[in-house]
Formats: sequence, structure tokens, C-alpha cells
Amino acid sequence: MEGGEKQNRNEPSRSGPCRDMKDGSSQTDCRIRGHGPRLSKVNLFTLLSLWMEMFPRDPPEEKEEEEEEEEEDSRQIRGMGLVVVREGKVVGLHCSGPELHAGQAAVLQHGVRLAESQLYFSRRPCATCLKMIINAGVSQISFWPGDPEISMLESSPPGSVREEAALLDAVATEKLKSNSRPHVCVLLQPLTPDLLQFVNETSRDCDFRERQNEDDAAAGDGFNRERVRYLRAFSRRFLVCTSQQHKEILTQMGLENFCAEPYFCNLRHDMRELVEVLAAVAAGVPRHRHGFHREQSWTSWGPQEEVAQEVARHCIIQARLLAYRTEDPKVGVGAVIWAKGKRVGFGGTGRLSLVGCGYNAYPAGSKYAEYPQMDTKQEDRQRRKYRYMIHAEQNALTFRTRDIRAEEPTMLFVTKCPCDECVPLIRGAGITHIYTSDQDRDKDKGDISYLRFSSLTDISKFIWQRNPSDSPAASSHLVNGYLGKHDRQPEPETNRNKKLCTQRPSGAPSGC
Ligand SMILES: [Zn+2]
Ligand SMILES: [Zn+2]
Repeated sequence: MEGGEKQNRNEPSRSGPCRDMKDGSSQTDCRIRGHGPRLSKVNLFTLLSLWMEMFPRDPPEEKEEEEEEEEEDSRQIRGMGLVVVREGKVVGLHCSGPELHAGQAAVLQHGVRLAESQLYFSRRPCATCLKMIINAGVSQISFWPGDPEISMLESSPPGSVREEAALLDAVATEKLKSNSRPHVCVLLQPLTPDLLQFVNETSRDCDFRERQNEDDAAAGDGFNRERVRYLRAFSRRFLVCTSQQHKEILTQMGLENFCAEPYFCNLRHDMRELVEVLAAVAAGVPRHRHGFHREQSWTSWGPQEEVAQEVARHCIIQARLLAYRTEDPKVGVGAVIWAKGKRVGFGGTGRLSLVGCGYNAYPAGSKYAEYPQMDTKQEDRQRRKYRYMIHAEQNALTFRTRDIRAEEPTMLFVTKCPCDECVPLIRGAGITHIYTSDQDRDKDKGDISYLRFSSLTDISKFIWQRNPSDSPAASSHLVNGYLGKHDRQPEPETNRNKKLCTQRPSGAPSGC
């Protein structure tokens, strides 16, 4: 993020969808011919911070969102998500744990390496976090303008200890904000036109839903039901229910300028659209009856080193969010790498810490339009994109935030089956676990092929599948409790072309 991107700390402004930051690595967020709309970097970081707030707790609890929400509401200090960005790249994904706030967890993990980085919080951090972050020398702190970490939505009686704590924190936070060198602000950008529709369409038809769509074709629209359910849960969590309450919270946070029209209306609109994107992306990876299942191999890593199903699903959704920054005209791919340390680490991610993440794009620092964009279906081989595109896994490994250590299980979550170019890189880097969808496995598409993935036997592979217990067809392929590698049906081409429903859900919260 450069200077031009910054907003005045108390001055709301809406940047046009094409006025994206120049991030050094790319390009433009304007719509390019034949290319789907992209998420801006600011919106990606914002969405990742919201999603990190929902990182599954350890030990994972099988709970419905409603119950979780109630429990959350009964505490005054709300859990938060945090994204640490340096030079336009994500270098940390954090969330609050039982003892540490997200901001404290980031300070512990990064220390002075936080200097000159930008932080994206899913709520305004409390004074305890803010003073340490400012002290570490960060250059910018952005927060989602909903209920802050020390909740103001609590119905505490006037004059109570809790109300006093919230007021004292609000005063201290304001003082820290106004006296600090780093820019403390609200960074929200309107979505690129058509992006929400694009995310809905691509989530409904993504590899993680494809089999479910086949099964549900007769039973109605499973995707839409799930999306509306997420939208309700996320709206309760991230949007302030009434305009009046929202204005009170903004005023207490020293953001009274946002309360004036048209800023207030725009702010609520932009917040709601981002929550809708998150709901669609989450619904793209069905929660019920599907999961990642280990493929038979002779790996030396014991089963205790896998991550819980809900954690794996959370990480693949991180990767799906990253994929909406793709520069590939056709296929967005996202990848995230997490390592599992020996001891319980910082904050709510337990033993897991981020190694790196990325999406497929042309080489950093290059101009998008200079490179060929054709795919295998087009005639001219010289003008095809394949020799120029950096794959999501390659970007995640190149721009990793720390080394991959031999003694730590290291997990790659990637939205598409690794290709033959990436397989040796993944093995060479020391990745021990891969979580992916294997739609393209064993296919040779000429310029790009997926033949080597199956031979990757020294890495634990977890393939997205319908749960064996739910699928009589799949269970016949079970070998010693593991899934055989050829239990998939051939890819149905027709499903990709079916008509897409993009109407708004009836359960969507109304605007301002
Ligand atoms: Zn805090
Ligand atoms: Zn690849």
C-alpha cells in the first residue's frame, strides 16, 4: 500500500473500483478483456481478517453458528482476526485465543519484524493491543468499523464495571490513535462491479461443490441455502444490526464523520457486500457430508499430525479467497501453507503458524498486458499463458514468511490439484501434507499436465471427497480405511455450463 491509498484517519472516502493501489507486484484491478473481476488487495486483506476471526477453536467444537454466536456475545472482549501485510504480501494470519488477543499474538510472533508492516483487524483493537502494536513500529493499522474488540454492543447497566471498562478503553484508544505515528484508519473499498455475482457463480460451481451439485440437482439449490445461512450468521457477527446503534459505536470510536450521509450509507453498503462475498466463498466449500480424506501412502507422519476437518476447511477457504486475486484469465487458484509447531504457539491458531500464501499471477513487477493469455482451447501455442503464469503454490513458496523446518509437519492447502511443474517444488520444499481437490488428477492437457500428483507417495494427501460413510459408491473403494486414488467419477463437463442463479437471497440484511 502506498501513500495514495491511505485515507485520512477520520475522513471517510470512497475510492473508485479502478483506483486500486499500486502494489509493486501488479498490474491493475480494472476489468481486463476476458477476465473476471478481481478483489482489490485491501478487500482481500479485510476479508481474510474477518475469516480469521472465525478460525476454529482448539479443540474443535461441533457447534452451529447460532450457539457460537451466543457464547461470543456473552463476553465483553470479542475474538478478532488479524492479517499482517508487508510490501503487499500477507506475512501473518492471526486470531484471538483463550488468553492472547490477536494483536498480542502478532507482536509475540513477529516482534520487531512488525516494523513498517500494515495490520488489518476484524475489529478496532483494544488499547492493550494497540499500544504494543504502535510500539513495534507498524506503519498502518486498519480495522473493520463494526463492534470493537471491547464490545460496545454489550447491554451492561449504566455505571457498571463493564460499561466503565469499555468507556475507559475507548478514551485510551482514541488517545493512542491521535498521538501515534502509524496511520490508524478504516480502509474499506467498494467491490469491483460484478464481483459479487462473479463470486456467487464461481463458488457455486467450484471443484469443492461439483459433486454435491450433482447430488443436489433434484433436491433443490443446496448452495443458495448454505450461502443464506452463512450470510445470516456473518451479518450477526460483523454488521451492527441497526443504523442507530452503528452510529453510536462509530461516534464512540471517534469516527463521527462516517455518520454523515452519504458516507454512512456507503459504509454500511460496502460492509454488507463484503460479508456477502465471504458467505458465498464459505458456502463454496460445503460443511456437511464432505471433507478431506487421507489417501493411502506410506508416509512417516502419524495421523495425529493431520489438522482437524474444520481447520482444513478453514484453510482451504483462505485459499479460495486468495484465488479471487488471480491474474489468470480463466482459472483462479489460491494456496496457503501452514506449519504445525511442537508447542502451542501464539493466539487462537494453536500450534499452527503461517508459512506463506499466494495466488496464480504473472511474474511480480510485470505488466499484465504484455503476456499471452490464451489457454489450451485456443489455436496459437506461442500465445498461450502457460510459460508465463506463476502458480499459486510457486508464489506461496517464493514469498514465504519463514523457512520450512524439517521437524515440523508443513501443510499446503491449494484449491486445485498441483500440476507436474509444482509437484517437484512441493516435495523439494519439504511440504509434508497436501489438502486439495483432485478434479484434474491424471489429466494431460498439453501445455499443462497433472500426471505426477498420483506418484507423490511420500507426502500425505488429503483429497476433498464426500464422506465415505455417506457415499456407498466411494466406500467400495476403501482400502484399509483409506480412500483409493481412483474413486472419482470423470469430470462432468455439462455441469460447468448450467444456468447460474444469482438473485439476492431473501435473508439478506437490508441496506441503510
Ligand atoms: Zn486487544
Ligand atoms: Zn502448478
